Parts: sequence; structure tokens; C-alpha cells
Amino acid sequence: MFGNDFFLTTLAPFSGNLHLRIFFLPTLAFILMFFYIVKKLQTISDLKKKNQLLNNSLERVDQEAKLILESDMDIRLCQLEVENVKISAIRKLLFATSSLLDKEALFSQIDSNLIENLGFRNCLLLNFSDLSKLKQIGFQPQEVDLIKNVLLPKKQLFKEKRLLSSQKSETCKIISSKLKIKNILIAPVKSGNTVHCLFIVGKLTEAGVVTVSMKEALMIVCLHLAKCLDNINLFEQAYRTRDELENKIKIRTNELVLSLQKVEAVSKTKSDFISSVSHELRTPLTSVKGFSSLLASEKFGKLPEKAKDRLDKVVKNVDKLMDIVNTLLDISRIESGKIDMNIVPHNIVLTIKNIADFFEPQSQEKKIPISVDTPPQLFVFMDKDLIERVLTNLLNNALKFTPAEGKIKISCQSKGEKAIISITDTGYGISEENLNKIFQEFYRVKEIEKKAIKGSGLGLSLVKKIIEGHGEKIWAESKVGKGTTFFFTLTKKKNG
Ligand code: ADP
Repeated sequence: MFGNDFFLTTLAPFSGNLHLRIFFLPTLAFILMFFYIVKKLQTISDLKKKNQLLNNSLERVDQEAKLILESDMDIRLCQLEVENVKISAIRKLLFATSSLLDKEALFSQIDSNLIENLGFRNCLLLNFSDLSKLKQIGFQPQEVDLIKNVLLPKKQLFKEKRLLSSQKSETCKIISSKLKIKNILIAPVKSGNTVHCLFIVGKLTEAGVVTVSMKEALMIVCLHLAKCLDNINLFEQAYRTRDELENKIKIRTNELVLSLQKVEAVSKTKSDFISSVSHELRTPLTSVKGFSSLLASEKFGKLPEKAKDRLDKVVKNVDKLMDIVNTLLDISRIESGKIDMNIVPHNIVLTIKNIADFFEPQSQEKKIPISVDTPPQLFVFMDKDLIERVLTNLLNNALKFTPAEGKIKISCQSKGEKAIISITDTGYGISEENLNKIFQEFYRVKEIEKKAIKGSGLGLSLVKKIIEGHGEKIWAESKVGKGTTFFFTLTKKKNG
């Protein structure tokens, strides 16, 4: 500030006088120092003020930064809040609709509340299969046609893309103006390759922002709607199928009832016919048998040898005929419930042994031993006479259809509440196909007939009627060439 020139100029007047120089120079130096110090102090005070101002500004900046941070936090909170609103709207929708089985009820849940909570305004669920509803909400017929013509061919597009947004196309402009929305978003409600409908939403103004999370939320809603629609379709299909099935079952049941009634009527006619024919036959047969036996006994005089022979054959055949007629009568009586069964506890083991003894002579004659495998005793509910007829018939068959030197075994086992009685032979056996038929009246296996084994085909039919009359079961197992086993059940007496 004070350069060399200044000092030289200022000291110049005193250069000649030493006293003056001694006095004046320090004073001058002091004054100069004083000014210098004052100047410096002023600078320091200026600097301090500036520093203060700087500090103040810094503080303000700091405050503002804090404010910015706080508002940023608030914005984030608001965003979270908005997300939460979306999430809870979706959750509410899931709760309300997951178990719905009605389309109307499902679509009624897509209300303005939900749409607003998702961040949109107004929506349209466009059902491809029923565009007529558009007319109900104010679309002109030609607009509906346009939507149909433009959107339907694009169906494939919806199958491929998840979300479409467009405002340019004519269709979107129509939808835009009708729904009073901008920035249209079109989301397909689809499962697999099936597009159920289109979910169209938008914002109030073109400035309205559609965020990624809004799109995500829309897609979640669409996915859920598709699942619900799948369930509803499945349910409707199952319901329809059940209805159809029920109808079919009703029709079939009616048909069956009618057939059964017809079968029962035919069966009754047949039984009545057999019963009356047998009755009618029995009287003359009894008289034929009486007279022929009387003649054969030669009480009315000796008969020529040949005549006697023929008469004996007549008596035998009349006996057979009587047998058939009696069996037929028994069958029809059991069928019509005319026989009173006397079902009381009996020791079946004793009955089996008695029948086996009865067949002993035939068994020895044919060299077919009959073995018996039973517990010491077993009491069952049965009509003794009728079960004896069952055992006699089955044993008779076993002896008839087993070649000499075979074996027969009668067993009786206790199984739960039942006694299972079986007669096993090592005879010709019965083919699978014939096993179902042998219990029918007059049915005889052809191969057996070829072997010229005599019979009427009525024995098993009677046996079956007797066992079923007891409320029990009878069945047969067999292998051709190996043998046959007939089984039937009887109910055990408790503690028997
Ligand atoms: P029938 O013995 O008078 O012919 P059934 O009603 O007793 O009449 O038997 C019907 C048919 O069942 C017989 O003709 C025979 O073909 C077959 N059948 C019955 N029992 C046996 C058996 N133990 N082994 C092989 N075939 C049998």
C-alpha cells in the first residue's frame, strides 16, 4: 500500500535537519503504523462479517437440505402408502372372489373402488363372446361392430402379449371417449391360450402417469380373474355333466325298472305256466305210474317177457317224469314263496356225514372215494330237508360228472359269521363261459350231453333257489379237465 516512492517523497523535506529527522520520522512511522493497523482491523471486521454471512447461508442450505430429505422421505412414504392401497385392494379382491362360482358375482367385484385403488379410472371388461353388453353401456351399434372387427382378429395377439397399451387406434379412441379415459391399457384375462376377456383401464388425463407397479397390479388382477373364470368354467362343466349324468341315470333307471317289470312279468307267467302245467301233469302221471306199476307187478296176470320189459321201462320213465315235474313244482313254489322254509339251527356236520354215508354204495361202485373234512360240529341256520336236497344234488352231480377213480371231497369251514360248505370233484370240469349258465333252468353243458350223461338240467336251478331262499350265496369254480368245486354259505348260530 505504501510503496518506496511514497517514503522517499515524504522524507525528502527533512533530509537536511537531523533533529527534525529524529523527531519526525518515528512519529510518521507511528502514524503510518496506526493507519495500517486500523486498515487491517477494518479488513478483519469485514472478513468476520462475510464469514458470519457465509455461516448463515451454510445453515440455511443445511436446513433446506434437511427439508428436502424430509420431503423425500414423505414422498417415499406416500408411494409406499399407494402401493399398500394397491396390495390391500388386490388382497380384498382375492378374498372376495377366490371361492366364487358365478361369473356375475365375480365381475361385480370389479368396481370403481378397486380400479381407483389400483391407480386407474374407469374400466371395461370386454367379453369376446358377448359384445352385445357394450350397447347397454352406451356404445353405438357401428362402434360395437368396429370393436368386434378390430379386436377379434387380434385375439391371437392377446394370447402372445401380456399387456398392450395404445391410444392411437380407432378402437382405442372410441373406448377412450366412451369411458372418458386416456392412456388406455389393455390387459388380457387369459389362461393358457384361452383369452376369457380384455380388461381395459386408463387415466383421467393424458398427463396421468401409468407406473410399472400399476401395470404389475393390473396383471395380477387379470391372472386372478383368469383363475377364477377357469374354476367357474370347470364347476359349470362338472355341474352340467352331473346334470346330464343324473338325467341319463334317471332315464336308464326308468328303462331298467320297466325291463325288470317286464322280466318279472315274464318270469311270473313262466312260473305260473310251469306250476299249472306241472300240476296238470302230476295227476295223470300219478295215475299212469299207478297203473303201469300195477301191470308190471303182474297182479292182473302174467305178462309176456317182452311186454314186461317194455312196461318196466315205462315205469322208470314215468318215475323220471314225476321227478322232473316235482322239481319244477318245487322251483316254482320256492320262487313264489309258497314253500314255508323251516330255517332253524342244525348241526350241518351231521347232515354232511349222513349224506356222504348215503352215497357210499354209489361211491364204491364208481370207485370214487368221498372224503369229509369238517370240524366236529357246526350249528347253522337251515331248513334241514332242503339243505339235504342241495347236498344230494351236488353230490349226485359230482359222482355223475367225475370219471371212475376220481375223488370227491366235502368240506365245511367256518368264516366269520358264515359256514362255507364246498363239494370238490376231480371230474370233467366246466368252462368259464358255461359257469354262468349252469344255474339256469334246463341248461346242460353240450360237451356233457355228448358224453350221454343223463339229466334234466333242473338240479342246480333248484339248488340255487333253495340257497337264495335261505338268503345265502352259491357259486362254482372249475377248470376243464381238472374238476369243479361248488360252494355255498349258511349263517352260523352264535356260539355254535
Ligand atoms: P343235470 O345234472 O340234471 O344235467 P344240473 O342242473 O344239476 O342238471 O346241472 C346242470 C349242468 O351243469 C349239467 O348238465 C352239467 O353240464 C353241469 N354240471 C353240474 N355239476 C357238475 C360237475 N360237478 N362237474 C361238471 N359239470 C357239472
